[in-house]
Amino acid sequence: MRLAVLGGVAVTPERVIEDAGILIDEDGRISFVDTREQLEECEDWDDEIELGEKDVIMPGLINTHTHGPMTLFRGVADDMPLMKWLREEIWPLEERLDAEKCRWGAALAAMEALKSGTTCLVDMYFFMDAVAEAYAEVGIRAVISHGMIDLGEEDKREEELKESKRVYRKCHGMEGLIEFSLGPHAPYTCSEELLKEVRRLADEWGVKIQIHVAETEDEVKEVKREHGKRPVEYLDEIGLLGDDVIAAHCVWLDDKEIEILSERGVIVSHNPISNMKLASGISPVPEMLERGVNVTIGTDGCASNNNLDMLEEIKAAALLHKVNKMDPSATEMLEILRMATVRAGTVFSSEKIGAIEEGYAADLVVLDGSSPRLNPNHNPISNIVYSASGSDVKHVFVAGELVVKNGKLVKADEQEILENSTECAEQLTSS
Ligand SMILES: [Zn+2]
Repeated sequence: MRLAVLGGVAVTPERVIEDAGILIDEDGRISFVDTREQLEECEDWDDEIELGEKDVIMPGLINTHTHGPMTLFRGVADDMPLMKWLREEIWPLEERLDAEKCRWGAALAAMEALKSGTTCLVDMYFFMDAVAEAYAEVGIRAVISHGMIDLGEEDKREEELKESKRVYRKCHGMEGLIEFSLGPHAPYTCSEELLKEVRRLADEWGVKIQIHVAETEDEVKEVKREHGKRPVEYLDEIGLLGDDVIAAHCVWLDDKEIEILSERGVIVSHNPISNMKLASGISPVPEMLERGVNVTIGTDGCASNNNLDMLEEIKAAALLHKVNKMDPSATEMLEILRMATVRAGTVFSSEKIGAIEEGYAADLVVLDGSSPRLNPNHNPISNIVYSASGSDVKHVFVAGELVVKNGKLVKADEQEILENSTECAEQLTSS
């Protein structure tokens, strides 16, 4: 069935098209984008959706770093520094996780993400087959990885790789929405042997790698003490880096490391709210953009954010660097929107995602033009980046399928997700 999406203002993001006409083919990909008038002249279709005149249609946002099931930890431990927060609060809670809890935590994450305009999550966590199933059921696209930590122990390393292989075999390509990737946690929690094996497997399987890099100043000190080099230099020296690596945070970088990230084509996930909340530092995003680094945007997990609202995140990304540089032009709104859409599309391998262009997957978000935050609409890009909120999302398509309609999930029962995830969260935190 060919579906036409008619009307509204399309932000592709390179073009702004009034009274748009978008055609979605049977394969879930966009086959035509222009004005309604052009579409009516050139094409025909089987079904159509008429948008409000003021509705804004944009590519689905791509959250390039999160830990979906951590929605269950929303609000359990706030206002603490990273290592104390991890050791005393998060890691003990994570000991109590199981597949069922991760499934419902992931369902809650997918519900929250889709309803606030995100159509793809890059996720590193545990019990990832249960997470992948929840994502596919609710209808969100995701790049998943089992988070691996070996702390230099051979037994642990083998166990982690075994679990990664299990999840790869079970989930890679699931429903056309799920891609597997390898997830070594960080250079200070993974041995060189593990990181080298990850590179070998990524090449063999043709999958991405997700890793936390240079999140805190302490991490830089630890890696320097252990390996005599800063984290990015060290990872490059052992051959891990490439354009298939998604490096989260990248807060503490020197000039040479920025150059390496640029040369290797690494996909950097900037997580401004998590970095602010844990007071980790300010990532040199303007410097990275200037040197051609592929910077994208992520929320990180709900324990350190505390939500998955990418519209909130892109505004924070835009504002943080302006105040840090004391320069309102330090970030530019179209570039910020690209970071959360078309630049980030590189995280997904089997489909083109992140733009409303011919040949791209129809991952689309419609913002409600009757929301006061979108009026007046002098500049739709400005309204998206600086004014809109996740609660302005009206419809969402993933791979051409309507998964949020009038602000409600289509494929899953919202009440069931809320009840089950709340019960799992209570089981985790009860003594
Ligand atoms: Zn993280």
